[in-house]
Amino acid sequence: MKEARAVKFSQSTIFKSLLLLILSTVLIATISIFFFARGQIKSLISWSSDNNRAQLRQMVIAANNEIRLFANRIIFLTHTNEIQSLDSATAGGYLNSDNIAALFNDDETIELYDDENQLICERENDFVDEKVHIHYDISKIPKHNSFFSPWCIDDEHALPTRIFASEVIKDGNDKGILLANFSFARLDKYLADCKVGKNGFVIAVSENGEILYHPDFLVNGRKQLNITNLGFEPIKPHHYESLAPTFVKLKNGKEYLVNYEFSHAFQFGLISLQPRQEIEAMASAIKQSSLLFLFGTSIVSCLISFWMFIILGKPLNKLIGHMKKITNDNFDVPEIRFGRRDDEVGQLSKAFNMMHSTVRSQFKELQSHREILEQEVNERTQELEEANKKLRIMSRTDELTELPNRRSIHEHIENEISRISRSHKPLCFVFIDIDHFKKINDTYGHSCGDEVLKSVAQTIRGLLRNYDIVGRYGGEEFLVLLPETDLDGAAVVAERFREQVEDQSIKYADYIINVTITLGVSKYDGRLGADRSIQMADKALYEGKEAGRNRVVVWTPDRTSEDDYRAAAIEMAKQR
Ligand code: GH3
Ligand code: MG
Ligand code: MG
Repeated sequence: MKEARAVKFSQSTIFKSLLLLILSTVLIATISIFFFARGQIKSLISWSSDNNRAQLRQMVIAANNEIRLFANRIIFLTHTNEIQSLDSATAGGYLNSDNIAALFNDDETIELYDDENQLICERENDFVDEKVHIHYDISKIPKHNSFFSPWCIDDEHALPTRIFASEVIKDGNDKGILLANFSFARLDKYLADCKVGKNGFVIAVSENGEILYHPDFLVNGRKQLNITNLGFEPIKPHHYESLAPTFVKLKNGKEYLVNYEFSHAFQFGLISLQPRQEIEAMASAIKQSSLLFLFGTSIVSCLISFWMFIILGKPLNKLIGHMKKITNDNFDVPEIRFGRRDDEVGQLSKAFNMMHSTVRSQFKELQSHREILEQEVNERTQELEEANKKLRIMSRTDELTELPNRRSIHEHIENEISRISRSHKPLCFVFIDIDHFKKINDTYGHSCGDEVLKSVAQTIRGLLRNYDIVGRYGGEEFLVLLPETDLDGAAVVAERFREQVEDQSIKYADYIINVTITLGVSKYDGRLGADRSIQMADKALYEGKEAGRNRVVVWTPDRTSEDDYRAAAIEMAKQR
């Protein structure tokens, strides 16, 4: 059968503490994880934004360099003899040579004009089967300086270009101008290679917000697009500022983390777009690992609590159970063992076992003491009871004759009277007095008198029936109760007493002593009561003494006077 727990869970401090430990651990872990995850997500966004911005900056530098390289190549060309010859065949041949082709894109045109803005020659290009012409009013190009036009987009092919013009100076004079269009397609490979997160991308825009590059162009061909077509606000890219990470929702329904970088040198902007979904996916990974951590923390705190309960709660409960048993006087419980533990619980169990063995041995000692004490008390009680019994007997017995004393005689009389009041049987009294007893004392000494008293008492007792009673009534006076005996019977018995005493010789020292007794007999008379009925016997005795002693005198009821009856009635009324 499973033992009932010593302490209920609801009352157990250990259980409550462990529960509190679990709850507080989980609460602290939850709060920390909440703030940690929030911080992590924030820093993730800011990290992504910083990263993207750095990418854009590099990209702008690379693009600027590419444009500068292009410009430098054109300037370099203006210094070549072939271009400076301004000869259509020489310069044209040179521009269309393989060496030059390697330096320019297919969609890049180079045109050489003389000082009257007449085309001398041009580099052929075979972009999409058609020649791309530079549609630019050459007269607007300032002389004596290198010039970059704003970005213009070829209507037909949506190809963004910039016109770069450089003077051809020969012998210190302006001889012509070399025009070339820088194709944005040069930057496509840089921008396509630019990594923005996993699925992000970069777009390039002109200062008017026209899209110069979009990764979609590489697949579906270039289009004339403005950033407002994508869903951006209609503001100019060089005004964009992105100090804090910014999210923009575009028309495709997706939200992006957006960063801007503008090339003030060449008037184009780069915008990086990283899908929010991607960042959120990273954040959810953080959340998941946070939840995993929370779960792990909860499990660990539960396990620790369970372990604490096992190593602390269980042994303590066992100890309490043992203590309760011992408190209920059950000292035979076995010793508590918790292996070889030497910690607080181990020490407690050892101390408990020591206490248990001490209490057990002391209890056994106490028990044996108690048994001895109980035995002694029993013996004493028995002795006391016997002594009391003796005392009771002694208090009712005459020491000398060992006959009931006067008090006892009266108790016997009361008993007999209450019996004859039911049975209506007669009860007689015989009053006995030793004759001239004083003389015996005087003659043989008091102790001889005692012997005579004992001897007479024995003689009378020896003549009695079982239910007759004799007691010492006074000095040398005896009273005999003869139940169920009428006056005649009593007179016969009294006579037998008298004869027996007269016949007996009492030896004392060297003397042989003979004594006689005088006896008065009366019958119990309900109207007189016990005392007065005995008085009648005494009266008869007195008559016997008067008449010469050694005789029996019977008091017959007719001799009782009315005065006696009246006096008795008054006495009984008083007693009642
Ligand atoms: P009578 O024949 O008239 O009865 O004369 P008596 O001498 O017997 O009567 P009395 O009353 O004059 O004397 C009784 C004496 O009994 C007196 C007393 O000293 C003696 N006596 C009473 N009790 C004891 C007792 O216990 N031991 C002894 N030795 N004598 C006792
Ligand atoms: Mg007397
Ligand atoms: Mg006498």
